[in-house]
Amino acid sequence: MTILADLNCAELTAWCKEQGMPAFRGKQIFKWIHQGADFDGMTNLSLSLREQLKGMAVAQPVRIIDERRSKIDETVKFLFGLQDGNCVEGVLMSYHHGHTLCISTQVGCRMGCTFCASTLDGCVRSLTPGEMLGEVLCANRYLGDRGRVHNIVLMGSGEPLDNYDNVMKFLRLLREPDGVQIGLRNVSLSTCGIVPKMYDLANEDLPVTLSVSLHAPNDEIRRQTMPIAKAYPMDQLLAACRNYIDKTGRRVIFEYALVGGVNCEEKHAVELASKLRGMQCHVNLIPLNVVEERDLKGVTEKTVRRFMETLEKLHISVTRRREMGDDIEGACGQLRRKTLQADQQTGKGDEA
Ligand code: SAH
Repeated sequence: MTILADLNCAELTAWCKEQGMPAFRGKQIFKWIHQGADFDGMTNLSLSLREQLKGMAVAQPVRIIDERRSKIDETVKFLFGLQDGNCVEGVLMSYHHGHTLCISTQVGCRMGCTFCASTLDGCVRSLTPGEMLGEVLCANRYLGDRGRVHNIVLMGSGEPLDNYDNVMKFLRLLREPDGVQIGLRNVSLSTCGIVPKMYDLANEDLPVTLSVSLHAPNDEIRRQTMPIAKAYPMDQLLAACRNYIDKTGRRVIFEYALVGGVNCEEKHAVELASKLRGMQCHVNLIPLNVVEERDLKGVTEKTVRRFMETLEKLHISVTRRREMGDDIEGACGQLRRKTLQADQQTGKGDEA
């Protein structure tokens, strides 16, 4: 079955023509899909056409199968179900300036970072453009009268640059005139640092914010937690970041998860500052979200503050990531994992 959410407006128009429908149906259906409607809700199509479409195609390939609301803040974690029985996570965070949705780009991940829950069972498959869009549409439906998703961060499970073509198409779907129209300046793409793809991204002319998961001040430490660091040393990674800044005029954000006993001492902050000096960038400190299966330690509040102050003294722009949804398995891959484990215990996973 064709997944219509994967198609842009021109492709959907062509598809309608192939099926013997008038071309204007393409735009009609496209609009409905981006408004989150399923065939039943497409009220300007005849009942018989809606029934006919149901037998040929899927409009909305994603649905919410579980949601957990934080008791501390307005964060909601979704478990999104896909057509083939797989599931991915997303997190909706509501700030005073609007709603931000963190989406997944793959089922699992094959990058193997030692602190991350998404990668524990490897990558099952990449998401299609319509599935990524579907996560956004689910969140919009959930919000209803309370608004729409304004900002998107590609920081759920998966490595966006390991699913390059689908992610690029998804980004272009966001700014289609008859679609959800989320400006790409409101989108952040986070990568563990696949250097050649970072050069490709810089040439796409898509004004997304690039976030790079750095997590270390040097190669030796980076290799301890991030296998990708063995493929691309830090000087190559930082050169790709400089290229991105030059090409797009946009600053790069460096994500830095503080891991106890690994990368959180003052000397590491000093070394990091020396590497980033003169770069148009910002550092986002994340106190490690401890993952049960991983033998890594978190850090104390004092350690975070000291690291931050050291960077500030050395004139590096830095903030700490607000910890939202701490009580709802907010970190990557944790909710999906818990659900898979529970399914295995009850035998539900065997049916999928
Ligand atoms: N693959 C992409 C995007 C997904 S992860 C990337 O690597 O950037 C989104 C961010 O969360 C990354 O910076 C990642 O390193 C970080 N992260 C993953 N697990 C974490 C954990 N347990 N604690 C803190 N940050 C974590």
